[in-house]
Amino acid sequence: MRCRAALVPKMGLDVVVEEVELAEPGDYDVRIKVMTCTICHSDIHALKGEHGAYEGPGMAGHEIAGIVDKCGPKVTYVKPGDRVLCTEVRQGCGYCYQCLHDRHWFCENVPHTSDLFRIPSPFTRLNGEVCIQTCSGASGFAEYTNAHESMLVKLDDDIPFEIGSALACGFMSGFGAVLNRCKIKPGESFAVVGCGGVGLSAIMGARLSGALPIIAIDVMDVKLEAAKKFGATHTINSRNCDPVEEVKKITRGYGVEHSLVAVAGKGIKKMTWDLTAGYGQMVIVGHELYENEFMTDLNYFDVLTGKRVTGSVMGAVTPRRDIPIYMDMYRKGLIDIDSLLTNRFTLDQIKEALEDSMRGALKNVVVIGEQ
Ligand SMILES: [Zn+2]
Ligand SMILES: [Zn+2]
Repeated sequence: MRCRAALVPKMGLDVVVEEVELAEPGDYDVRIKVMTCTICHSDIHALKGEHGAYEGPGMAGHEIAGIVDKCGPKVTYVKPGDRVLCTEVRQGCGYCYQCLHDRHWFCENVPHTSDLFRIPSPFTRLNGEVCIQTCSGASGFAEYTNAHESMLVKLDDDIPFEIGSALACGFMSGFGAVLNRCKIKPGESFAVVGCGGVGLSAIMGARLSGALPIIAIDVMDVKLEAAKKFGATHTINSRNCDPVEEVKKITRGYGVEHSLVAVAGKGIKKMTWDLTAGYGQMVIVGHELYENEFMTDLNYFDVLTGKRVTGSVMGAVTPRRDIPIYMDMYRKGLIDIDSLLTNRFTLDQIKEALEDSMRGALKNVVVIGEQ
């Protein structure tokens, strides 16, 4: 079918919106009428080639919510008319070794998420060029998109599409990492480095877990102000001071029991490691390319004392189990997704939407379908 979509003619952020051809959904694919797609910073990195170079036109948009328009012949999970959100994580098969051990994201029977990046998408430009999906198994900055049914989670009728979009990646990457990896007991200390959508969602997880203090670290004051709103008890602008010293002042000299790195960048992981207590744990979420992530400055003596480092992909979430719980938490007011959403743009305004995100907007919404 023909529809309008945003794409970059070549690697970069020179986005255009134009008519494209979307292939018919494959056997297990679902065609979604996209209602909203929120912007995750991964979209920007991926289009620019910072998650790996690609050739040809690129597409992005992976926090997708919409309505099922057409199902491939073997789809069983949904039917046309169903409201859905589309994650980057494929629901595992449910019976392989990894699925049986609650690690759906390592399922042996579906492709790993990153294997779906930088491969041809079902979109073709009218000049015949096949678009590359730069950062997910589906590209949502378009009026319609195709996604494998295993990436979908049904969206309850009373949950707005834009909330569904926000739940689809950034929120669960931060919130899920805290619940599934940090496992904070009430009164334990927590620090997050990087207060974008992922970091603020981690703060929501820390607050819900009863962490105290909750220390937010960033280089932008506007993000630190937002962090307070989501539950940070202390904020540190690491441009103006030594964050390791500041965290130690707040934690009686020990450092925090739980730290989470929500951004990538030179020296950030070492800094986070240093502000984590000798008996604490650092959880890594933000990352660059594999070749840029060697931690050569870690002294294993620290580990001998019991200090730990771990990480998570997509918050170690099992979407069809956990997202319904998040919808309940949203309904009860336990998590504040509304305050994460910053500005709303149309598909034609996508360039502005991306630029606004780069200036520090927490999470912009591209409203695509008519509601
Ligand atoms: Zn499996
Ligand atoms: Zn994302």
